[in-house]
Amino acid sequence: MMSKRRFLKYSLLGTPIMSLISSASPVTEDDIHSSNRPVVVSTWKHGLLANDAAWGILSKGGRAIDAVEAGVRVPEADPDNHTVGYGGYPDRDGKVTLDACIMDENQNCGSVAFLQGIKHPISVARKVMDDTPHVMLVGEGALKFALQKGFKQENLLTPKAEAAWRSWLKKAEYDPVINIENHDTIGMLALDQKGNLSGACTTSGAAFKMHGRVGDSPLIGAGLYVDNEVGAATATGMGELMIKTVGCHLVVELMRQGYDPEEACRQAVERIAKKLGDYKNFQVGFLALNRKGNYGAYCIQPGFNFAAKNKSTHQMIDSKSKL
Ligand code: ASP
Repeated sequence: MMSKRRFLKYSLLGTPIMSLISSASPVTEDDIHSSNRPVVVSTWKHGLLANDAAWGILSKGGRAIDAVEAGVRVPEADPDNHTVGYGGYPDRDGKVTLDACIMDENQNCGSVAFLQGIKHPISVARKVMDDTPHVMLVGEGALKFALQKGFKQENLLTPKAEAAWRSWLKKAEYDPVINIENHDTIGMLALDQKGNLSGACTTSGAAFKMHGRVGDSPLIGAGLYVDNEVGAATATGMGELMIKTVGCHLVVELMRQGYDPEEACRQAVERIAKKLGDYKNFQVGFLALNRKGNYGAYCIQPGFNFAAKNKSTHQMIDSKSKL
């Protein structure tokens, strides 16, 4: 009678199983997840067109970092988008000031804040990442750097945005509460065919904010964070709440502990709720993507949604909310 050992070693056809195993390459965890790749997610409805631009790169096997930069440039260039780049609502002094950051799979990151007169702050942030030993440039220094790199200085205050500002000036009530209508930062996260993650975040910030105010969007850890071993997260809403809790870093660390993207975002919202008593007056939305290609979101107020694109779908998804 064939011993258990011999039975395990030989298949019914007499083929040595060990030789089958050794001739086929082992199925890795990476192989299992690669069917979910590539994938791109981004905040709010402007994410649909932005995802299309990112997909143009991802679907050809391009890098996630190139995809997220190309993707968020779409709303940055749109004069009818009043929360990102060109056409963004100005601050209370009538100045359009832009914040953006970008991060790749190797922990490289670049950021600009309080940048004026440059339509594509995300590409300046990319240059800070690629061409300098620094992470962040702000204000005049960021502008000087952008001009040195060949970016064109232009007036970003469109007639529509100026009209909205002039109308706001009539009462000039400074109400820092950001509601669903005026906080549509684009945060984009992508996982490319090779399994590398990157993210980008760009905004004109809160409409009619104090001159000089910078929110979470250009701050690595607050408005964006990427860890290629784990996942990536981005945020939208009242940036001060994300800064106070280093929200996106928190979401990624929660995913590291094993939580799926939606649950990690939910727990980050719960952290805000626990620590910041006035959270009910504000909106915060977190969006996360893990290295397996799974994504999810969570927010404080109902109304936050995100666009998700992969090989089989491109859709808007409503985030669950605490309230
Ligand atoms: N988070 C951005 C900021 O606080 C604004 C937004 O997402 O609407 O500047």
